[in-house]
This record gives sequence, structure tokens and C-alpha cells, in this order.
Amino acid sequence: ILAIFLLHACSLSEKQSGKMNDSIDKKVDDLLAKMTIEEKVGQMVQYNGFYDATGPAPTGGNAEKKYKHLKSGLVGSFLNVKGVDQVRALQKVAVEETRLGIPLIFGLDVIHGHKTLTPIPLGESASWDLKAIEKSARIAAIEASANGINWTFAPMVDIYRDARWGRVMEGAGEDPYLGAKIGVARIKGFQGDDLSASNTIAACAKHFAAYGFVEAGKDYNTVDIGTTTLYNVVFPPFKAAVEADVKTVMNAFNIVNEVPATGNKFLQRDILKEKWGFKGFVVSDWGSAFEMISHGFAADLKEAAMLAANSGSDMDMESSAYVDYLVELVKEGKVKEAVVDEAAGRILRLKYELGLFEDPYKYCDASREKELLYHDDHQAAALDMARKSIVLLKNEGAILPLSKNQKKIAVIGALANDKTSPLGSWRVGSDDGTAISVLEGLNKYTSNYSYVKGADVVTGDVSFVTELNINNTDKSGFAEAIRLAKKSEVVLMVLGEHGFHSGEGRSRANIDLPGVQQDLLEAVYEVNKNIVLVLTNGRPLALPWAADHIPAIVEAWQLGTQAGNAIADVLFGAYNPSGKLPMSFPRSVGQCPIYYNKFNTGRPSGSENSVFWSHYTDEKNSPLFPFGYGLSYSEFTYSDLAIDDADPKAMKVSVKVTNVSDRDGEEVVQLYLHDVTAAVVRPVKELKGFEKITLKAKESKTVTFLLTENELGFYDGEGNFMVEPGWFDVMVGTSSLNGLKGSFELK
Ligand code: BGC
Repeated sequence: ILAIFLLHACSLSEKQSGKMNDSIDKKVDDLLAKMTIEEKVGQMVQYNGFYDATGPAPTGGNAEKKYKHLKSGLVGSFLNVKGVDQVRALQKVAVEETRLGIPLIFGLDVIHGHKTLTPIPLGESASWDLKAIEKSARIAAIEASANGINWTFAPMVDIYRDARWGRVMEGAGEDPYLGAKIGVARIKGFQGDDLSASNTIAACAKHFAAYGFVEAGKDYNTVDIGTTTLYNVVFPPFKAAVEADVKTVMNAFNIVNEVPATGNKFLQRDILKEKWGFKGFVVSDWGSAFEMISHGFAADLKEAAMLAANSGSDMDMESSAYVDYLVELVKEGKVKEAVVDEAAGRILRLKYELGLFEDPYKYCDASREKELLYHDDHQAAALDMARKSIVLLKNEGAILPLSKNQKKIAVIGALANDKTSPLGSWRVGSDDGTAISVLEGLNKYTSNYSYVKGADVVTGDVSFVTELNINNTDKSGFAEAIRLAKKSEVVLMVLGEHGFHSGEGRSRANIDLPGVQQDLLEAVYEVNKNIVLVLTNGRPLALPWAADHIPAIVEAWQLGTQAGNAIADVLFGAYNPSGKLPMSFPRSVGQCPIYYNKFNTGRPSGSENSVFWSHYTDEKNSPLFPFGYGLSYSEFTYSDLAIDDADPKAMKVSVKVTNVSDRDGEEVVQLYLHDVTAAVVRPVKELKGFEKITLKAKESKTVTFLLTENELGFYDGEGNFMVEPGWFDVMVGTSSLNGLKGSFELK
């Protein structure tokens, strides 16, 4: 009976949503029929907030021109406007002063929280906890929507392999399987179950495509990528996002096959809209239509407008290409009116789905704004997320967790007393100085510590772009730090990157500790070897000396508002660390790009004994810490790997995991596959399943993974998905490096 009821309920809700879509389609068509070509193009225009909308109308220059466009219904969306008063004022112009009164949508980079900040996305991804990540995006949406926003330019679902790239902080790391799951969790969190509710916002999967493959990790650089990598590594998180009904997709600054993504028909029309059936709209990246001129693809902004529109870029972010030229291009027959109708229709559809036509001011409730920003519930969720994001990299001699009765602790490092860097980059909605510092976090557990900075990380104004000369070179504080370390039992060193060492435009050619922090670490080590090193950084750092010498290392990323509390909870054992690296940590920058799901080379095993194999003469091939790696205060063992291949469409792989320690803990059980021979060669291993489990002290659990065509198949260079019979190696374990191994033949 229950099953019948469920079936019935299902078909009802499907019918209802089908009906809703039909009626939205009809509303869109009816509205489009009333619109002039100018008004339709207007929907495709997005402006950056350009004046204080609660004040007088701007006069003169570009601002006056833009204001005129706004009043004439020639703007569809704003970005970087926040606060209910500003949003309400702009919306009022659109709704009350334009001919058709079409409401605007307001986009913002809500990347890891809005006011209350959660860890940088790379940090959150280390939790491998999809529910927590969804919740984190949920609270971001609640705060952003209470602050006037109804659209976020997140999640960034780019896959990347090079820690030099500043934007690695913004995504889910190097693996497409994990990246797809995390992207979907974030989309669900932002968009919720009902997009028309006033506390949900539209998401945006970006940057389509391959922006994560900028050469040498240098932002905005050339991308040169093979089609099998495009299909197997870059596309999967975007495809998953479309399947999860992401409402918008952003294209990218880079070229793909020598065609800029913004003017790339293959990407935007053939793959995204046709092959995957994407129903939302594509927004350009900031001025990326304009950038097609510098790329050498468009002669001028008019041609850029034509190429972008024809290839499926629906909304122009801030380049003026569409507002200035698209009407003319339609009149000249260079862009079909149907192209404009389609783009404007996609944008209007989202406005209906958000419920803006019923109530354009639904995100402008001042009492909600007052109540929800920095809400206590959000602080609690941010703390939970922050604790789950921490990765214990090393704990020799079980120096951690610290005991509350610990004798004297020396705390050293400027980042221990920093209330802004833990907020990380990409936090346009937030306020400086709002993070709990490490020192503040420690106060919960002990007062028996002294703090000495030792050295700054940076000097000067770093608020915008980090330039070469900002890393601090002053060592005058070392002596005091050394004196303190000498007379203390344990030294807690908090080192790493300033919040703006990573993010957009912040690629680094050296991925060590910036400034003189490495020297400080070594100087302190000379006098006291009992060091706990807490790293706070926006990317994997190459720290081979620390990995060799320092007994305990905690990777704490930039954990957001609750950073210091989360770190203290882990240091004192109130939370047992459970994070696993979503990106390989190199030994040296020369290893970049380094990633676990690489290919075999033509040099067979055994050739390691000669000169002629794929290696460096001065560096190991292995990473410092591999993908999927992370320790716990508990200890887990794996046994009883079993493969049930009775049903080739649903192979089962199971393993028993036991917590052999006296402490309850969590473990991320990971399954990796390798297709031994295939029509296109397959990586040495690929993550194809994971489960985060909680195990009480001495408890065992059996975890079973199901392998279907989705996990067993791959794409060839033409984009054909295939599942080939033959042998597969499987590994189930605690990281991409270690696990129980087996194999099976797919018949
Ligand atoms: C970034 C995008 C971002 C946009 C709006 C661009 O520079 O590449 O990711 O959403 O700016 O701020």
C-alpha cells in the first residue's frame, strides 16, 4: 500500500511540476511577444552595481548612460549589489518605471558563506561530507537571500591539478567524481527544494569549461586540453550540475581548442544545451565577451557580441557588448532574432521560477535581514563544517590531542592572532575581522599559553591583489619567539598564507610558506622540537622540510568565521579529525601539476632501475601527501575485501572497516578503480565510490559499494560513453595510496 501511495504521490508531484513548467513556458512566451527587440536584448545585459541606488540618480559619464538603460528596461540583472535597501531601490526602478516592469535578478559571488563564512570550498571538500556541505550552502543562501541576493555565482566546479593556481581554493579539488558530488550538494543547498521560496537562490556552475587547466597554474592563461580529458575530467561535474537542475552556467575567460569559451558553440550549444538539455541560461564571465578581442578571436566589441550570442552565451556580464550592439546585429541579420528570443526566454524563465513576478521585493525584507545575518544557527553550522574540514597530516608520538592540563604552550606565528585571513578569499558579502582567531579559540581550553608573533606574513596593503613585494622579510621578531619556545613545553606554530595569497588573480610560482615563515619554523625547531604546526592556507603547500621534521601537522585551510574554535576543538580532542585531502600536496613546486588519477607511461615497471623512465633526477615522483589522505586520533583497519560480480550491471564490492582504537571516530572509506586495458587508456586509478562512516571505539562496519555502468564506463575522444568488457583492478582503502586490492573481469 505504501509503495502504491508513494508511486501515486510521485506521479502527482511530477504532474504538478510539469504543469508549472508548462505554465511558466507560456508566461515566458506571452511576455516575449509583448517585448520590443531592445527590451529582449536588455534582459541579456548584466551591470555591476554602479551607483548608490538609495541616493539621487547619477549624472554624467558611463553611470548616467547605464542609469538610462536601467530606466528604459535595457538591463536584466545586476551583480555586486547587496543589502535590501540598495536592491529594493534598483528593483523599484525596474518594476515601477520601465514600460513592462520586468524585475531584475541580483547576482553575487556567494562562494563560501555570505556574512557567516564557512571554510573555503577546497577546505569544505576535505570533509567529504555531502550533507554538511549542502547545509553550508543552505545557510549561505539563507543569509544572502536575506541580504537582497537571489543568484550566486557558485559553485565553481572546475577540476584542476596545479596548486600554483590561485583559484584552487574555490573548488572541490582534483577529482571529477568527488567534484561532481560536491558540486551537486552545493547546488542543492543554494537552490533548496523550492526556488520560489524567499530563502533559496539560483546557483551557477562555473567556469564552462576547462578554466582549471590554465597552463602552469597561471590565472587567465592558455588552456590546451585533449578531448578525452575534457569529457572524462572536466565535463562530469558540469553534467552532474545540469542533471541537478542548476539554473545557470557561467562560461570562462580561457580558450578551448583555440576558441574562447565565451564564443564557443561546441561547448555552449552542442554540449551544454543540446547534448545535456540544459534549460537555464549561460552568463558570460566578467567582460569575457570583450576579452575575445584580446584573444584575437573578435575584431571589435560588435563582432564579439555576435560571436558570443550566436554561440549561446545568453547574458553579458559587464562588457557592454550586448547593450551596445546586439539590436543592430539583429537588424543587420547577423544574429537571428530567434537567438535573442531564446536567450531572453531562458533568463525570464528563471525570474518566473524565483517568483519575482509575483513579488519583486521578496528578497527585500529588512526584518529578515536583521534577524538572519550572522544568526547563531549559522555559527553552529559553520563550526561543524570547519571542524569537519580539518585534515590531520601528521601526528608522530601522538603529540595530539593536547591535554587541558598541558604545561606551558608557546603560540607563535602572525596567523594565530589574525581575525581576517581565516575568512579566505572570495568573501564579497562579509566583514573583515569577523573570524574567531586561533588565540581566541584556545581560550576555551587553556589560559596557560603565551603568544609571540615572531614574524608577519605580509606587509603593506594586500586588500586587492597580492604583489611580489608584500611578503614580509623582517626577522627582528625571531629572537623573542625563540626565547618563548625555549621555556615552553609545546610550541604551537600557526603558519601559512594570508587570506589573499589565493583566489582570483593570485597564482603563485612558489608554493612554500610565504615570507620568512620557513626560517622562523626552523629557528624555533632548533630550540624546541615539540612543535604542532597548524597550517592555514588556500592551496596545497609544498613543505617537505616540515613533513620530515615537525611531529604534528594540522591542515586547517581558511576555515571561515569559526576558524579558531574549530582548530582548538581539534587540537584539544573535542573533535576527532576526519578530513581527507581533496588535492595532492606536492613535495616541490616542480612536481606541479601532480594528481593521483594520472596515466601509466610507456615505461614498464622495472625501468625504475634505469635512467630512462618517467621521473626527475632530483625529486621523487610521489606527492608529499596524496589525494584522499588524512589521519584521525582513532585507528582504522581494513579487511575482508569481497567482490560479487554475479550481476555485471551492479557489481558489489564490500569491505570491513574496524576502529581498533579506544576513541570513537569517522573514516572516509574510498573505492578506486582501474580499467586495465581500454580503447583509450585509463588512469592508474580513479575514485568511484566513497562513504564517510562513524565507528565507535572497537566497532566494525561492512561498507558495500555498487558499481554500475556509470562507474565502469568512460568517454572516448568523440564523447561516446562506453563500457568495455575486460579486467578491472579495484582498491578500497583509506586514501588513494593505500588499500586492499582485488580484481574482477567484466564479462
Ligand atoms: C570571476 C567569476 C566571478 C565574476 C563576478 C570573474 O572575474 O572569474 O568567477 O563570478 O568575476 O565577480
